[in-house]
Amino acid sequence: MKRIDQPLKHQERHAACEEHCPTHGPYTAVYALVGGRWVGGHCPRCLEADKERQRREERARQREHRALVMLKRAGVPRRYRSADFESFEPVTEHARRIRDCCRRYAETFPSRLEAGTNLVLSGAVGNGKTHLACAIVRDVIQRHGYQALYTSSVSDAVRQVRRTYDPDSDKSESEILDYLGGVPLLVLDEVGVQTGSEHERMVLFEIFNRRYADMRPTILISNLGYQDLTRTLGERVIDRLLEDGTAFEFNWDSYRRSHATESCAATNNARASAS
Ligand SMILES: [Zn+2]
Repeated sequence: MKRIDQPLKHQERHAACEEHCPTHGPYTAVYALVGGRWVGGHCPRCLEADKERQRREERARQREHRALVMLKRAGVPRRYRSADFESFEPVTEHARRIRDCCRRYAETFPSRLEAGTNLVLSGAVGNGKTHLACAIVRDVIQRHGYQALYTSSVSDAVRQVRRTYDPDSDKSESEILDYLGGVPLLVLDEVGVQTGSEHERMVLFEIFNRRYADMRPTILISNLGYQDLTRTLGERVIDRLLEDGTAFEFNWDSYRRSHATESCAATNNARASAS
């Protein structure tokens, strides 16, 4: 506690004197007599800086909390919760380029959202497609604060949306479609796996069409090769997806299996390679 020996002004309960802040220089320190002790006298600019720091910390806490809630709603499978770009091990030069493109996609997401830029990740099982897509989901939420949703099938998508709201609530299908059509980033994994009903296929096309019309970015993942995927979904859907998007074919040896031979055909645009 600072003692006031020779205050400049001395009223009954307040005193002021010139002091020096190591950061802000000279200032008029004001003290108050409380319970027989002089308190206060702090540099007003230090106090203001302190308040600003607290406000910043509070905003950061709120952002972090929001991101946590959004991540919970993102539907990322447990296996991929900690998936990020650093933990993706590119086994070939082609894989490294794809990872870098995915990272850039996430980093520049606001402009991707503006342009409605899609990604198609296709190719053999175990090459890290889901890993990279989940890394994008995380980054889009944490870095930019946009909601992103990962789904492994149409029924999974519907389940995710129901869980987002009250699980007991009776969301109508059109409300669920509104959500899937409107969420800033939607990842559809395992597209082309022939387990869905005809109804699920129709819902999938409805989601595509809505997102296409509203220019919302979609990341589509399939274990099918690019040409099989085109056959399965139809050229119209693929054309629409790639009208504002890029296709990456994950055509190297399995990412999970080994760090095996560099056998990739180095092309980072399946559309170019397919034509
Ligand atoms: Zn100061």
